[in-house]
Amino acid sequence: MCGIIGYVGSQDVAPILIDGLKRLEYRGYDSAGIVIIDKEAQLFRAVGKVSNLEKRIGSHPLVGSLGMAHTRWATHGKPSEPNAHPHADCHGRLFIIHNGIIENFQTLKQDLLDEGHTFRSETDSEVIAHLIEKYYDGNLAEAVRRALARVDGTFGLAVIHKDHLDQAIVARRSSPLILGIGDGEHFFASDVAALVKHTKRVVYLDENEMAVLTPHHFTIGSLDKPDLVHSSSRTVHVDWDITAAEKQGYSHFMLKEIFEQPEAVRNAFRGRLLPAKGTAKLGGLDSVIDRLQAAHRIIIISCGTSYHAGLLGRYVLEELTDLSVEVDLASEFRYRKLNFRYGTVVLGISQSGETADTLAAVREAQTRGALALGLVNVVGSSIARETSAGVYNHAGPEISVASTKSFISQVTILTLISLMLGRLQKLSLRDGKAIITALEKLPSQIETILSNADEILRIAKKFADYKNFLYLGRKYSYPVALEGALKLKEISYLHAEGYAAGEMKHGPIALIDRQLPSICIVPRDSSYPKMVSNIQETKARDGRVIAIATQGDDKLRSILRVEDGTDEIFYIPETLEILSPILSVVPLQLLAYYVADLNGCDIDKPRNLAKSVTVE
Ligand code: GLU
Repeated sequence: MCGIIGYVGSQDVAPILIDGLKRLEYRGYDSAGIVIIDKEAQLFRAVGKVSNLEKRIGSHPLVGSLGMAHTRWATHGKPSEPNAHPHADCHGRLFIIHNGIIENFQTLKQDLLDEGHTFRSETDSEVIAHLIEKYYDGNLAEAVRRALARVDGTFGLAVIHKDHLDQAIVARRSSPLILGIGDGEHFFASDVAALVKHTKRVVYLDENEMAVLTPHHFTIGSLDKPDLVHSSSRTVHVDWDITAAEKQGYSHFMLKEIFEQPEAVRNAFRGRLLPAKGTAKLGGLDSVIDRLQAAHRIIIISCGTSYHAGLLGRYVLEELTDLSVEVDLASEFRYRKLNFRYGTVVLGISQSGETADTLAAVREAQTRGALALGLVNVVGSSIARETSAGVYNHAGPEISVASTKSFISQVTILTLISLMLGRLQKLSLRDGKAIITALEKLPSQIETILSNADEILRIAKKFADYKNFLYLGRKYSYPVALEGALKLKEISYLHAEGYAAGEMKHGPIALIDRQLPSICIVPRDSSYPKMVSNIQETKARDGRVIAIATQGDDKLRSILRVEDGTDEIFYIPETLEILSPILSVVPLQLLAYYVADLNGCDIDKPRNLAKSVTVE
């Protein structure tokens, strides 16, 4: 979750590192630090944002062409300057930056303290610096390898040393680490977003690998063996454009990404629809199509917003196929005693493809014999590489911590998977064609919703001072309610609960009064009459309602008190029931955005959160 960026070459390294840190800041940002080694090591650290680090550096001239920097998301030890990375050994000769958790750090630390090492932070990470110091005898790579052999836990790690001004060592276990290949220079980072400005040629380190980078050369090898070799065949080309990772005039990445959703949906189905056959073709699943066809059960595992996409995937898969579908939170999946008989497919969904819990769950499922598939946005990420097959979102970089376009893309692709499998089973050509026609209309329908964003802003102004919100929906609109509530709480810090509307009477209805607005997702679908009854029940208890309804729904208007301003309706275009979440979630994203903005919240960098959750 932290950000790592580093460089070895001949350029002045400081601007490269500061720029890289800013691009990584979204991953985790309770503190930041930088070290550059020239004749001396120049180390600066600061609590808070990268701008605080810049202030800390002030007018100090940073000199050198070997350096690395880090944004920290604290796991062990509070966000403070001594706990910020980089961390040094006892004598300030070598420096490390670390992403992940060292699980046995307490034992290691005690041993190192007994041997006379001096610790300066409360972090787990610092033990790595002292372990490397302990094993160092002139060969830095070997010392890193020996140190990491003693470590339990996860790491994306980078090490530099005063005696090796032309060398940086990196290693990974469960946390991402990517090499950027330049001419006469090499970069390393936890995220391609920090690299694409400098190079599009990258090498993804594999699990339990380390690499030694010099300006003109890089070697890679397993952490278990001392031999490192050059391997240019590992280099892949990333097609992300740097402007895609910039705000382009929008006040926040989140707003930009909300407005990119028509394109995200288009990219999700581009080249994947076969209209004449009423089906979809997903090249990434070709190699496993027989096993998929023979499957009787699919378990979708994911976290956060991706979990909500998974819940929607269950409804669509069950609607269009004969599969029995389960959805589980990746962090809970591992505790279940599941029987993976032949025919079980596990699908991990993660924007970054690095979500630690999802990755661990996918690995566990694979070990136990399930066919593991991935649905990820980041090409070449760990889940993409470790699963047997999968589908990419092609949604472009998502920088905002609060996920929007990835969610819409995930739901679209889950629909394509359902359509493809459904057509291999009982779904008729006619129904398949109808789904494709409706899918193709979605981008322009989302554009229609976005063109009414001012209407949501007006509603947000009316409700921005409220402290509690209830989100209600049924069937396809239930996960949308969960997602709408999650969006609001993560960026505005207001209390919001998503509930299945049918559950109202089993508890939450007790909360209803004029101080608790209910956001009701009520498109005209098969659950519409029951949802309308729930709205009536809310109104009977003097609750205020913001309804997301289908264009032309006058009946609902007559139930709500819209004219006197008590209630609100926002209309979305008509579509098939299975696709309605792709439209109904958009106003909820905008509502969360505007309420957070009106409350002065730091939307792209909400407190305590990080984009890519690479710790368990
Ligand atoms: N566990 C380390 C710490 O708390 C690294 C956290 C991170 O990944 O940023 O300092």
